[in-house]
Parts: sequence; C-alpha cells; structure tokens
Amino acid sequence: MGGAEQVYADEAFSSNWVSTVGPNLNAFEAEMARRIGIPVLCLSSGTAAIHLGLRLFGVEPGDEVFCSTLTFAASANPILYQGAKPVFIDSDYASWNMDPAVLEAALRRKADQNRLPRAVIVVHLYGQCADMDPILEICARYGVPVLEDAAEALGATYKGKPAGTLGAISIFSFNGNKIITTSGGGMLASRDQSMVAKARFWSTQSRDPGLAYEHSEIGYNYRMSNVLAGIGRGQLQVLDQRVAERRAISFRYRDAFADLPGISFMPQAPWGLSTNWLSCFLIDAPRFGCSRDALIAALDAANIESRPVWKPMHLLKLFDTYESFGGGVAADLFDRGICLPSSSSLSVEDQQRVIQVVRNTAGARSV
Ligand SMILES: *Cc1c(COP(=O)(O)O)cnc(C)c1O
Repeated sequence: MGGAEQVYADEAFSSNWVSTVGPNLNAFEAEMARRIGIPVLCLSSGTAAIHLGLRLFGVEPGDEVFCSTLTFAASANPILYQGAKPVFIDSDYASWNMDPAVLEAALRRKADQNRLPRAVIVVHLYGQCADMDPILEICARYGVPVLEDAAEALGATYKGKPAGTLGAISIFSFNGNKIITTSGGGMLASRDQSMVAKARFWSTQSRDPGLAYEHSEIGYNYRMSNVLAGIGRGQLQVLDQRVAERRAISFRYRDAFADLPGISFMPQAPWGLSTNWLSCFLIDAPRFGCSRDALIAALDAANIESRPVWKPMHLLKLFDTYESFGGGVAADLFDRGICLPSSSSLSVEDQQRVIQVVRNTAGARSV
C-alpha cells in the first residue's frame, strides 16, 4: 500500500458508502480515465472485464475467438463462459507476445473457410506490449475487433501510447499480485462510451429503468465496491513508482547475470516501456550448466519461490482439444523460462540473496 488507500477506505466507512456505488468509485473511474485517456468501468475482476468485453463484441455459442496461447488461463476462460471456442495463436521470440505473422496466416485460413473469429484477445505478457501496429492492421483488414488483455501492463506504453488504449476494448486487473491492487478487482476500458455504458448496465444485473425490477437481458454482479475503489485511488497515486520498482528489480537481475552464460533476460521490445511485471529469464541448460527445473529446485531449497513461465493454453488439459496455430515458440518459452521473485516490495537484500543462489547454481549441477 502507498499510504492514501487507508484515507479513502476510511471515507467509505465513515460515509457508509460500502457497497457498489459511491464517491470513491466515481472518483477512481474519473482518475483512471484521465490517466489512460479513455472511458473506463471498474469491475470485480479482470476476468469479469474480459467476459463483458467478449459479450460487447457479440461473442456467442459456436463462435471462435483467437487468443494468445502464452498467457494466464483467465485470458481464455471467458471464451468458454460465452460458449465459444478458443483458437490459440503462438508467440514470437522478439517479445514473447502474439506473433503477427502467425495471426495473419490464421486469419487468412479462417477467411478462406468463411469462418472468421468474432474477436482476437491480445495479451501484453508480463507487462510488455505486443506489437500492436501490425496486429491492429491485420485485424482491421479482416474486420475482426481486438480486445487488449492489459492485466499485467497497467503503466506500460506502446509507441508513446498507454497500453490498453489501442484495441476496441481493453481490460486491466487489480488482483493482489498485479502492478497495483484493490485487493481484487478489474477494469474495462473503451474509446467507445456506449460500450462502456452497456458493460456498466450488464455488470449491475441489467436492471431496466423504472421502479419495478424489470429485466430483459442477462446480467452479472460484476461491479467493484466503493471500499475497494478507495484502495484503488490510493494505489493509482503510486502506480508510476510501482512500475519503476518492478523495472529496477528486473534490470538489477539482468545486470547481475550479465556475465553468466546460458541465462538471458526476456527481450525488451523497442516499441515501448514494459512494466516488467515479472522478471523472466530463459535458461539454456547446456550453457548455464543446470536445467530450469534444477534452478527452481535450488531456489526452493533456499526458501525462494520461483515459477516457470505460464504454461501455454494449447497445452492445458482444459484447452488441448481446441485448435491452435503454431505453439512451438510458446512451448519452448514455457520449457526454458523462469519467473524470479518480482514484487515491488522485494528488498534489495532479499534480491541479493536470490541473485547469489542463481549464481551459485550456475554450472553447479548436472543437466
Ligand atoms: C491476472 C490476469 C487476468 C485476470 O485478472 P483477475 O483480476 O485476476 O481476474 C487476466 N489476464 C492476465 C494476462 C492476467 O495476468
């Protein structure tokens, strides 16, 4: 927490606005809209925001929706909520994000079959933007709208523009592990005010205007609470600081491993600023002298938690019967990728300990 969160949360209690309407919500939305420059809607989670976004695009049972394969499962689950079918698109090595060339080939194939997807979900992995210019150009050519999953990328930029302002709809997450948090929460954003208004209606149970409880559309209980919006207001004040802290941690690791063979930092694409939400590295076992899994085990033995890079969606039991285009790059990144401790609250001393264990492990174990 940054400090002001408690003040805004206390205001919610003292004014008794503790539910899903109130001054903090209005203010948080106004402040967020000012920050990214387009209208926003605060919700109970990023996952809820993706669900509403897909419904805004008219995704229905039987439709197909393209999605980056290298991501967290929450990116793709809402496709199933709508009864639609995910189609997964591989990453490239340049940014670990959706490969525009694979996307283009997939859309061309689908257009030939007269079976274009209803939407494309593009993930900004670990806070680094996908290469949006070619992706948006290809999707526009085929008339397919783009949903930006910027859950990990609040504060990132692409060619000077904020992540989450490039697609027709975008989503953010304020889950506890993200750049800033409301304990749990999310946000939908769109340049199109009418889309945001429609999502607001659905997120509050789709109650028709008037005195009686009349409903003519399916609704959800997806709104953020005014207490949590207060936490968000405080967190927004320290967003730039949190991004700077995450980036400092990533680059401290990078510098500390610069002389070690076989360990390489996640590429930093030239088109923008990454939040470096997680500090990710690739292990080349023969050169590093130890496999990725042996490194995770060595860290674990020192009571340090580390994790593989996300398991690609096309390899998950939940999704492995669905179609995918490519997938070998994401699978390789999953096999060799490691996420090191990355929290903005990680102390320099604790990070030095992580660095020491990685350095001691390099070359110390058999592959
Ligand atoms: C965290 C995350 C989500 C989901 O956000 P929640 O607020 O936890 O529902 C979606 N996509 C990605 C890429 C995420 O990292």
